[in-house]
Amino acid sequence: MKQIRELVMLLLLVLCSKLTATSAGSMPIRKWKPEDSYCLSWRLGVETNSVRAWRIVPNQCLRYVESYMMLGQYERDIDLIIDQVMDYVNHDVVLSNDGFDAWILDVDDTCLSNLFYYQGKRFGGDPYDPKGFKEWALKGVCPAIPAVLRLYNKLIEGGFKVFLVTGRSEATLGQTTLDNLHNQGFLAYERLILRSDEYKGMSGIAYKSEIRKKLVGEGYRIWGNVGDQWSDLQGEYIGNRTFKLPNPMYFVP
Ligand SMILES: [Mg+2]
Repeated sequence: MKQIRELVMLLLLVLCSKLTATSAGSMPIRKWKPEDSYCLSWRLGVETNSVRAWRIVPNQCLRYVESYMMLGQYERDIDLIIDQVMDYVNHDVVLSNDGFDAWILDVDDTCLSNLFYYQGKRFGGDPYDPKGFKEWALKGVCPAIPAVLRLYNKLIEGGFKVFLVTGRSEATLGQTTLDNLHNQGFLAYERLILRSDEYKGMSGIAYKSEIRKKLVGEGYRIWGNVGDQWSDLQGEYIGNRTFKLPNPMYFVP
């Protein structure tokens, strides 16, 4: 009797595991962990700019952020946002074609990806390392973020004047950044604007606001503004619409 009961239990277990596997497709099932729930909330807080001025990814979320960045969800989130940008460009923008329809794109982790660099920094588990980042950026090997390059080409073909605005230092990273953008297919933009000495020490919000103010002063209409940091999208003259790309690895004030 005991043997029959054990056999029935075993059969039930096999049946259950098969049903679960079928419902989840062929993907291996990753066990839900309590820390995932906290980290989902943390990332939501980061992306909605409710969690601010954080220096490093919380220790219990290191594996979560690594999985998010490396297993496809990061790309899927970017793809979805870029699709929204495309919808806006296709349906809500009425170009004047007078040469003053402008668009602003940030560079780091918007046009160009620093994911390889941050892989060596535990995906934001280590604090910001200006020397290390400079060494990485000087290599000029940051790959394009494919969905953003797709948007970029559409904007150029559509007749927008695209301005690439970055907090990178003009003096130390100007030429490398230009070369890197070109070798990744970012060509024909109107201007690449890097941080010159007069803006040294300014917050991202203040610096980028000043740059946009100048562009508006020149007569440009900023239809859209895309960046991975809230500081790209806040302040003055932010543009008709702003689009925030995900970045749970670092925070720029
Ligand atoms: Mg950026």
